[in-house]
Amino acid sequence: MIYLDYSATTPVSYDVLESYNKATRDYIGNANSIHSLGMKSRALLNSATNQIAQSFNILDSEIIYTSGATESNNLALIGIALKYKSRGNHIIVSKLEHPSIYAIVQYLEKQGFKISYVNNNEDGLIDFDDLRKKITNETILVSICGVNSETGVRQPLKTLRQIIKKENLLTFFHSDLTQAIGKVSINLHDVDLASLSAHKIFGPKGIGMLYKSDKIELEPVIHGSSKFDNIRPGTPALPLIVAFSKALRVSLTDLDKKEMYVKRLNDKIVEELSTIEDLKFNRTKYSIPHILNISLGNIKGETFVHAMEEHEIYISTNTACSSGNLSTAVMALYNDTKRATSTIRVSLASITTNEEVNNFLKYFKEEYENLSKLN
Ligand code: PMP
Repeated sequence: MIYLDYSATTPVSYDVLESYNKATRDYIGNANSIHSLGMKSRALLNSATNQIAQSFNILDSEIIYTSGATESNNLALIGIALKYKSRGNHIIVSKLEHPSIYAIVQYLEKQGFKISYVNNNEDGLIDFDDLRKKITNETILVSICGVNSETGVRQPLKTLRQIIKKENLLTFFHSDLTQAIGKVSINLHDVDLASLSAHKIFGPKGIGMLYKSDKIELEPVIHGSSKFDNIRPGTPALPLIVAFSKALRVSLTDLDKKEMYVKRLNDKIVEELSTIEDLKFNRTKYSIPHILNISLGNIKGETFVHAMEEHEIYISTNTACSSGNLSTAVMALYNDTKRATSTIRVSLASITTNEEVNNFLKYFKEEYENLSKLN
């Protein structure tokens, strides 16, 4: 099997699974219980949280555990909207967001909030002038994805923050960093809120976090009772949290070295496939190397994904979470429906081998030729 769909999800690494198993086996107490078993679990939870906080140079209290990035996005956008609605009812998002962000803002629109979509330039970068123009006194939140999940386009978060705060100091800045963390280096202080998910960094599914600067308040989306966490109550998912903390530590180690390695793999694919005339690479100079999006001309992305699957090679069309065949991110870059309906996404990781890439290239060319003849 050759797995090249790491942006959809990653397998859980051995060490991470060991951490999960150990926490499950040896820490049976509810971290909210007052007896010694509870306190033992609470101590482990605190230590896992502290390690995450230290790796991002943030405070322990700035971490809210969630079930993943979808929930983090909901908590960030709805939590801000409800808490600060007396200040304004305007939210700005980009045209390069994950489908969950669009679902949330559509919901908020029905609740009376005004949503604006900031433009991007042909390189996929947010149009700074358009952003400046769209921010008003009523703007409570700007949410811009750090790395787009389909094209890998990475945004300059620090610059965006400066622009936002200069226009309106009271506007908060959220970024969905699900595809950025563990791939490229990120400074959480560039944003006020950030969504992360463990299953994109060789951690388990069902755990993620929202980074929320301590200067910000949020209205909870999930209600319950907890003496420790009023924003996201419930029994802490200790084994998942411990595994997430471990996965983060591993994924943030040697980040630059791993990125360079993945870039070499990406370059090799692009170089070899560039000889095929009808292929279009949906990437710009700001795309990270872990994500390579290709339009196949007259071949449907879905058909190609299944053809490659016959060789046990796993890639995806646009994202696992989008509905329909049209890639919104490719549309936002090129405004070309044909190009946006024939896309595949190949996503690489630092565990991808040269041999896997060679086999991928071999079968890619073979299947492309077969399917082109059929067309
Ligand atoms: N945001 C982005 C950018 C993503 O790529 C994904 C996963 N496809 C999500 C959010 C959703 O993450 P989760 O599966 O953890 O809810």
